[in-house]
Amino acid sequence: MATKRAALKRKDLLGIEPLSVEEIHLILETASSFQEVAARPVKKVPTLRGRTIINLFFEPSTRTRSSFELAGKRLSADILNFTASASSVVKGETLLDTVLNLESMAPSIIVIRHPASGAPHQLAGACKASIVNAGDGMHEHPTQALLDALTVLQKKGSIRGLNVTLVGDLAHSRVARSDVLIFSRLGARVTVCGPPTLIPLEMERLGARVVFDMDEALRGADCIIMLRIQVERQTQAFFPSIREYFRWYGLTEERMHQAAQGAIVMHPGPLNRGVEIASEVADGPYSVILDQVANGIAVRMAVLYLLSAGRG
Ligand code: ASP
Repeated sequence: MATKRAALKRKDLLGIEPLSVEEIHLILETASSFQEVAARPVKKVPTLRGRTIINLFFEPSTRTRSSFELAGKRLSADILNFTASASSVVKGETLLDTVLNLESMAPSIIVIRHPASGAPHQLAGACKASIVNAGDGMHEHPTQALLDALTVLQKKGSIRGLNVTLVGDLAHSRVARSDVLIFSRLGARVTVCGPPTLIPLEMERLGARVVFDMDEALRGADCIIMLRIQVERQTQAFFPSIREYFRWYGLTEERMHQAAQGAIVMHPGPLNRGVEIASEVADGPYSVILDQVANGIAVRMAVLYLLSAGRG
């Protein structure tokens, strides 16, 4: 179990970018220790009893939202789930007004997903509660990167020196930015691959090798992270057709022969079967996609706990 003194010495978790390697390790170690709670018949610890957590989602979510909710409940916090589409946001209330009103209900932590990049950062400056970024526009999705790192760590034993390849829509994916940051910071060799129209220039600055040929990108890969085509964030056509996309960048069983022995396949969900990944791979022996989901709860428990512990 996590020791009482472990804590993050920061008020908010806004991204992977501001985290030190030590902070990342602390979160991953704490998450591993929380995994034991999921194996118990009574999946609850009293750690956050009496604290209130608000989950504020301005965009659809299945995995992130439900695992933040379960994480808070397994820590015994009181949880308020706020869905923007069922609130006064539809009457024109601003983000800041909405959050300041919710803050007067004295939450310790506000978890927010918002379509605007930087929305959690704006709130962090205005709120006393800790802000946790659960995905902001095309910017970052730090808890997804943390659960991805935990999954690789558990499946491969360590991250340093591994070949990690991300394939797909890197331009619109917040998961991609956070993943490139975490895996390069933890010492992996990161390769990104996709159509040139979907690879932003900053990928090299973030520490990734850019490759446009899928087979070359997969050669020797220990871990392959497939990204969803972000239909909701595309305003123009970035590739000729879905069929073409799958032909050039879809992950098939046949393409897996390029990867290193024992390679694992990950995907943050939701899957577009037959677009970026074939069902035989998503459901096949290399896939650790459902392990990622299970690890999401432990990582979010760790983040909620470590932020609260840091604030007494
Ligand atoms: N669920 C993840 C996100 O919200 C990944 C995705 O939607 O592609 O960013």
